[in-house]
Amino acid sequence: MTERRISIAIDGHSSCGKSTLARDVAQRLGYAHVDSGAMYRAMALALLRDGLTPSELADNESAQREFLARHTLEAKISSEGKVELWLDGKKEEEALRLPEVAAVVSEVSAWPLVRSKMHALQRELAACGGVVMDGRDIGTVVLPEADLKIFLTASLPVRVERRRKELESKGIFLRNEEVEENLKKRDYLDTHRPFDPLRKASDARVLDNSYLTREEQTMEVMRWVQQILGGSF
Ligand code: C5P
Repeated sequence: MTERRISIAIDGHSSCGKSTLARDVAQRLGYAHVDSGAMYRAMALALLRDGLTPSELADNESAQREFLARHTLEAKISSEGKVELWLDGKKEEEALRLPEVAAVVSEVSAWPLVRSKMHALQRELAACGGVVMDGRDIGTVVLPEADLKIFLTASLPVRVERRRKELESKGIFLRNEEVEENLKKRDYLDTHRPFDPLRKASDARVLDNSYLTREEQTMEVMRWVQQILGGSF
């Protein structure tokens, strides 16, 4: 009998550790991890490389259409099963985490044309099951039929500290206040945009990881997976 491969959606605010949790769970299950935020970051990076700011294209659908037509974004699965993002034929990773990208991504991700293009790519990756996808609208819009939906939360000070440390490890040094300002701005834009705002799916399980270790949060999710699969993995 072939093992059932479920789909898992993890949504939540910026820097609450969604991608870390999604990566860990995917690794335990041998599933693909799809970081949907990285896709929106890639589009923000493309915009910056065009020498544009989001405000120059806001409310201008034809300019947004031209912007999207100028760029290609592909998701390729590496030989180790990792999802890689290729923007205009070049693999991108570090550049997606730059503060200048973080500063504009929530404006770019609010454009419906960008969203529908990313949704198509995300659904394609999830089509065969065996996927853990994290983002803001995965359980509500992208994969409303996901077998397990998780809404991850953590307190703001904990999120700020995690994000600051993450940047520090990449040689980017910001003050707590600067990090907090970016997180609050993104939280506001992500929850107030008219299309696919961040919200908890009615059937999502809430997981507050403010005081959980990485291992503890993974184990909690693996318990839920076990309940769904009936201990069959
Ligand atoms: O998850 P991450 O912080 O990398 O996401 C970057 C940005 O991409 C978010 O602030 C949000 O504006 C956008 N995003 C989104 N929908 C998703 C994932 C991310 O709008 N599913």
